[in-house]
Amino acid sequence: MISKTAQSWQHPVSWQTALAQAIRDPAELLQRLSLPLDLLPAAQAAARLFPLRVPHSYLQRIQPGDPDDPLLRQVLPLAEECALTDEGVADPVGDLNAMASPGLLHKYHGRALLVTTGACAIHCRYCFRRHFPYASSNPLHQHREATLAYLREHTQLNELILSGGDPLSLPDSQLAAWVRECESLPHLQILRLHTRLPVVLPERVDDALCQWLSATRFRTVIVLHINHPREIDTTVGRAIQALRDSGVTLLNQSVLLRGVNDSVATLAELSQTLFAHGVLPYYLHQFDPVQGAMHFAVPLGEGQAMVAALRTRLPGYLVPKYVQEIPGMAAKYPV
Ligand SMILES: *Cc1c(COP(=O)(O)O)cnc(C)c1O
Ligand code: SF4
Repeated sequence: MISKTAQSWQHPVSWQTALAQAIRDPAELLQRLSLPLDLLPAAQAAARLFPLRVPHSYLQRIQPGDPDDPLLRQVLPLAEECALTDEGVADPVGDLNAMASPGLLHKYHGRALLVTTGACAIHCRYCFRRHFPYASSNPLHQHREATLAYLREHTQLNELILSGGDPLSLPDSQLAAWVRECESLPHLQILRLHTRLPVVLPERVDDALCQWLSATRFRTVIVLHINHPREIDTTVGRAIQALRDSGVTLLNQSVLLRGVNDSVATLAELSQTLFAHGVLPYYLHQFDPVQGAMHFAVPLGEGQAMVAALRTRLPGYLVPKYVQEIPGMAAKYPV
C-alpha cells in the first residue's frame, strides 16, 4: 500500500523517550527557565496535588525569565491551586453521571466518547479531568468487552471519540488494534481523537501513527488542543502537516484562560496561526469551574465581549464557537 505520509521525517528521539524525559521536578523547571526560586515552595506544594509534567520541546517555547509567560502559566504549579475555596467542584461537567459503561460517556446524539487513559504528556494546571477516577474505569482494558458490547448495541452511534487524558499517550499497537476491532461495527463511520500530544510532544507524530491513521476505513478527525499561538513552532507545524497528509481533518479547541489567551489580539492571532497550518478553530471553551484552578476563570461577559470583537476582525470560519458544558444538556451550550 502506498502510504500517504510521503514526507515523513525522523525525530532525534522516539516519542516514548521524549515522554520519559519530560521535566517533573519544579526546581528543575525554575532553574532551566531562570525563574526566581521564591516560586519553588508553592510549586512543590501544588505539584503534590497534581504533579508537574513538561516535555522539553514545550519548555523550549517558553520565554526564560518571564514568570507571566502564557505557556509557562499552563504548566507551573502555583499557590492558588492549594487555596481552599468553596468555588470549583471535582467533576464540573457531570462526567460521572454520564458514564454509560466504565470510561464510556454517551451524552450526545450519535457520538460516544471513551476516556481511554489518564496519562498525558503535559499536565495542564487548568485541567478539568484532574480529579477523574481513571484507574477504575478503563474502557480499553478491563472493560473492553463491555465497551464493545455497548458500541455494538447502540447502532445510532456513528462517531467514536477517543479522549482521555490523552489517547495518543497509548502506544500505536494498542490504538491500531482497538480501531481495527471497532471497524467491524458498520454503523461507526467517524473516528475522532481529542489530543494535545502533537502540540506538546510533536515527536508523537511518527510513521507508526501516520500509518494506521492513513489505513483505517474511518473518516478521521483530530481535535487539537492549542491555547496560544506560540505553542505552534516549526516542529509542531511539521507534525500537523504529517497528520494532514494522513488524511485527517484537523480542528482545534482552546480553553479561555486568564493570563494565557484572554485578549482579542491573542485569540485572533491563534486563529490565524492555526489556519496558516490548515487547522480550523472549532471550540473556545468557557473554563469549567474545577477545584484548584479557579484563578484561570474569565467571567462569561468578558469572554462574550472578546468573541464579539473577534467576529468583527476575522472571517466567520476563523471565529471559534464559544461554548460551555452544562451537565444534562444535549450539546455543548453556546454562550
Ligand atoms: C464534548 C463531548 C463530545 C463531543 O461534542 P461535539 O460537540 O461533537 O464536539 C462528545 N461526548 C462527550 C461526553 C463530550 O464531552
Ligand atoms: S492534555 Fe488535556 S487532559 Fe491532559 S492535562 Fe492537559 S487539559 Fe488535561
